[in-house]
Amino acid sequence: MGLNLHNSLTRRTDEFKPLKEGQVGIYVCGPTVYGHAHLGHAKSYVSFDVLVRYLRYLGYSVTYIQNITDVGHLTDDADAGEDKLVVAAKKEKKHPMALAEYYTRSYFEDMDKLNCVRPDISPRASGHIVEQIELVKILLDKGYAYEVNGSVYFDVSKFKDYGKLSGRNIEEMQAGARVEVSPDKKNPADFALWKKAEPNHIMQWPSPWGVGFPGWHLECSVMSMKYLGKTIDIHGGGMENKFPHHECEIAQSEAANDAQFVRYWLHNNMVTVDGQKMGKSLNNFITLKQAFANSPEPKHDKLSRKYDPLAVRQLILTSHYRSPIDFSDAALTAAQSGYDKIAGTVITVRGKESRAPKGLLDTNVKDEIARLKAKFETAMNDDLNTSVALSVMFDLVRLAAKLLEDSGTTKETFVAVDSSFKKLGGDVLGIVKDQYEQTSGSDEKIIDSLVKGFIEQRADARNRKDFAMADAIRNKLIDMGIILEDKPGQTVWRMK
Ligand code: ZN
Repeated sequence: MGLNLHNSLTRRTDEFKPLKEGQVGIYVCGPTVYGHAHLGHAKSYVSFDVLVRYLRYLGYSVTYIQNITDVGHLTDDADAGEDKLVVAAKKEKKHPMALAEYYTRSYFEDMDKLNCVRPDISPRASGHIVEQIELVKILLDKGYAYEVNGSVYFDVSKFKDYGKLSGRNIEEMQAGARVEVSPDKKNPADFALWKKAEPNHIMQWPSPWGVGFPGWHLECSVMSMKYLGKTIDIHGGGMENKFPHHECEIAQSEAANDAQFVRYWLHNNMVTVDGQKMGKSLNNFITLKQAFANSPEPKHDKLSRKYDPLAVRQLILTSHYRSPIDFSDAALTAAQSGYDKIAGTVITVRGKESRAPKGLLDTNVKDEIARLKAKFETAMNDDLNTSVALSVMFDLVRLAAKLLEDSGTTKETFVAVDSSFKKLGGDVLGIVKDQYEQTSGSDEKIIDSLVKGFIEQRADARNRKDFAMADAIRNKLIDMGIILEDKPGQTVWRMK
């Protein structure tokens, strides 16, 4: 059985067949860079990262494009409102491009921590204004668009397939228009391809229709075409972007090219925090920097502690990409303990590799590894069932535990188990590292709690006036390179 993916366009799970054998072009809508990435971004980009990793595992040559939206994304879903970046730039008193650069760097920093493989190309919308203007010209020439007062709109009545992805018809879309409809539009469902800029608008470019800026949807049509061609294999994005964003992308691309735009549309579901939709007003809007251990931002109030970024990744993989996931402190704690268990097992197995007796790979273990690999691939081929794939990691943990107890386990057997962890847990799921630091965050925690235990014993001894014992504990710690410092009301420790 090959890879099967749920295609939002056909509303079926279809066998995946790329346009060109052995090659896959994938485009995923990237972030609008006006703030730090949050848990919603983590779910979306980890899901597509696993898809890209699995396609590569299957042997495809993958070209992965993920754009950076640094212009044109307005504060509401329709064509009115201000540019999100301009609004944020005013608040932070920075140039919008400086702000976009700052948050783009922050985004990659967080995605690197989540072990998301960087896209092959991360094109910026502002770097493709010329191409966007060209596409608007084509749509005007072909009669799909019209110009009014320096703005250009797409005429949805001219494109018969409008609504085919979201399943909405034009009447419903008109009735659902939430904002005041611009008097310039022929039809309330028409959307902006190019917007006239007011004189004080900072982000503006010259065009045949006057000074302005592109509509948000246009960049994805233009950049996917530029780097992947008129028809692309896979387009990914959040469910909330099916309409209007992706519907508009289809209309622009197919009207301009007379060719199918996307063969497989994949949409991932949203996140909740403690069962509620994430929102700034609900005080449950958690940025990755507020959730990740070893990041300088203070932790979010909703969390009791900060977590290893790969434990956050592991939690995301426990649910299917098309299902929502709930981030709660309890779920994160459970994910962290599961992550520590896998990491601890891998570290122990690797430690044994050099010390175990040489010999053949145990045939029972070989069969068991083959069975687990088949279970893993069957799950992943079934529309990326990562939760079953993740359960295979725990099957491997149990297998390793048995082998670690047996002093006769050969080096070759440990190497084979390690290699399965690396290929399935590392290459595909991205939760097993090639190398673990000597002192990981959890090691530091263990040392800290051990030393604190000694500090308590020393305090007890002093309370009992057993000063000989108190001094003995202190000296023993000095021998180990640990210095105690008595401060008012508490004793702290540091390394020598
Ligand atoms: Zn997009």
